Amino acid sequence: MTLTITRVTHACVLMDFAGQWLLTDPWFSERRGYYRGEPLAFTPGSLPELAGVLVSHGHYDHFDMAAFAAYPHRSVPFVVKRGLAARVRAAGFANVTEVDPWEQASLGGLRVTAAPAKHSVPEVSFVVEGQGQTVFFGGDTLRIAQLDEVARRYPRIDLALLPVNGLAIRPAFNRQVVMTAEQAAELAGVLRARVAVPIHYRYTAGPIRDRLLLKYDGTPERFAQALTSAASATQGKILEPGELLTVPGAAAGQR
Ligand SMILES: [Zn+2]
Repeated sequence: MTLTITRVTHACVLMDFAGQWLLTDPWFSERRGYYRGEPLAFTPGSLPELAGVLVSHGHYDHFDMAAFAAYPHRSVPFVVKRGLAARVRAAGFANVTEVDPWEQASLGGLRVTAAPAKHSVPEVSFVVEGQGQTVFFGGDTLRIAQLDEVARRYPRIDLALLPVNGLAIRPAFNRQVVMTAEQAAELAGVLRARVAVPIHYRYTAGPIRDRLLLKYDGTPERFAQALTSAASATQGKILEPGELLTVPGAAAGQR
């Protein structure tokens, strides 16, 4: 069957598995030092009724519970990195499951499996299976070797959503905390993803904080360019906020 996705903004993506809607890493507001740098395609109130919300880690630009509290369906189930449930419940959403890598949860007819990730705070990535489609959501991670295990466990990945800005923290001796566009393209090749969509690349901390605190140069264009050599079987697609992408089901016997 056909999977349809819309990037809401940054790493917040809305996926439609034949009427079962899943949202990743909700971010619906801005504050000092956190600017989207691109439009916001939905508000919490304009979202469809969700089958679930996935949260990769506890940073504000991925876990904006203050703004998401405006979402009207309080029984929506959350699947979050272990340690974040209390903040979900405090925002008024009681249905929450914590996961670490390789733990699973069901959201309606969708199966969610946490996968490894490494960032500046504890994080997971996710694999979502439903309606014959398999999606890898990279969240905000470095390209760690443990991600190769995703390819071993899931020989068919239909869609990979991969962070590409290569963020590094200047006061921490330029410690890298997010994979670069080229590392993301290499991962798309290892995952043998049919389609790959870059996420997490327009965010800025503002001109002064960017100069003092952050360092990043990954762009979706560089990711698309790197895919042509690192993952030539993968179709890259740059998705602006609000733009729809349809991922057709893999033809039987094609893989
Ligand atoms: Zn983060």
